[in-house]
Amino acid sequence: MVKENGTYLVDLSCAECGKSYTPHHIQTYCHDCNAPLLADYDLENLADKLDRDMLRVRPKGMWRWSELLPVHDSQFIVSLGEGDTPLLPLLHVAHEMGLAKLLLKEEGQNPTGSFKARGLSTAVSKAKELGIKRITMPSAGNAGGALAAYAARAGIETLIFMPENSPLANMKETMITAARVELVDGLISEAGKFAAEAEKSEGWFNMATFMEPYRVEGKKIMGYEIAESLLWRLPDVIIYPTGGGTGLVGMWKAFKELAQLGWLETKTMPRMISVQAAGCAPIVDAVLAGKESSEFWENARTIATGLCVPHSFADRLILRYIKESHGTAISVTDEAINTAIQRLARQEGLFASPEGAATLAGLEKLLQLDLVHPDETVVLFNTASGLKYIC
Ligand SMILES: *Cc1c(COP(=O)(O)O)cnc(C)c1O
Ligand SMILES: [Zn+2]
Repeated sequence: MVKENGTYLVDLSCAECGKSYTPHHIQTYCHDCNAPLLADYDLENLADKLDRDMLRVRPKGMWRWSELLPVHDSQFIVSLGEGDTPLLPLLHVAHEMGLAKLLLKEEGQNPTGSFKARGLSTAVSKAKELGIKRITMPSAGNAGGALAAYAARAGIETLIFMPENSPLANMKETMITAARVELVDGLISEAGKFAAEAEKSEGWFNMATFMEPYRVEGKKIMGYEIAESLLWRLPDVIIYPTGGGTGLVGMWKAFKELAQLGWLETKTMPRMISVQAAGCAPIVDAVLAGKESSEFWENARTIATGLCVPHSFADRLILRYIKESHGTAISVTDEAINTAIQRLARQEGLFASPEGAATLAGLEKLLQLDLVHPDETVVLFNTASGLKYIC
């Protein structure tokens, strides 16, 4: 029997081979394929039991979608008020670009100032439910800050490996909690090796991107919120700043779930377009070369620290979803990102992160290349507040 508002999670399956893993035990990823596990829900039953419009009247926040999130018993939910961020029209920018409808999901309003809060609220809650006591993670910044906050609230011990060039705000917000922070001489890929070592030698649970199944579930709720805001119609184009790819994978998963639930008013699905920094664009290279996996990006460098991910553990999944959605990928220079930060501030009053501004820079390029058309509805994402990057 499913509890009232309880999860409809029934299974986890490997994104590559489809092998099934029980969600009632602690799981990581499919070691046969070196690939992520994705959560499967009993959508058929849920569609019968839950009216999509009932969700709107529940208390605000990500957890009003609890049937579609992985926690069985609500007493384990660790929340700081994440989710239900505004989908803002960018009227001035749209007018100047000649666009019919341009929207921006303002994720900087989340706890800890970034959308990483969604994934870590979900993963830490599930870890608490499963009795996990110690969590480690490599982080380029925002994920570390979010893990530290949610784990502190959950009473879970943390050990975070962060590149020493991460934004100062990320170091401070992490260190102010009881988290142990180790600064690493190198990028996220280097920090990842330390986390893997701590997992192997000291038994820390490793919450690195896609190495556990639940962070992506929190991020998928962005997709549900967008659908609900647009009265169950989806935009034509999603432009998403891609590092590890949880947001892109999560939202495409959400759109497919929405279609299965029969909650959508239209059959057309958005094109998922990945934006990366010119100084670290492994997914863009792979898309342009028509490859199924990406190559490790040497000497990665960009002001958009969240995009400084030389290789994503979910590269094959990201590439498959981009292809499935008839999307593409595009890179933008740090210079174009800086111009876009100023434009969003001056014309729209938004202080965006470099990663968020990259989506606007990407849109400009996509319009020039005729890959997005002026009459299409486009959604951009400001994944973190610009206030996290001021020093
Ligand atoms: C982590 C991060 C990203 C990249 O997110 P993924 O979903 O892992 O691709 C983008 N923007 C910001 C601000 C981030 O912190
Ligand atoms: Zn597998």
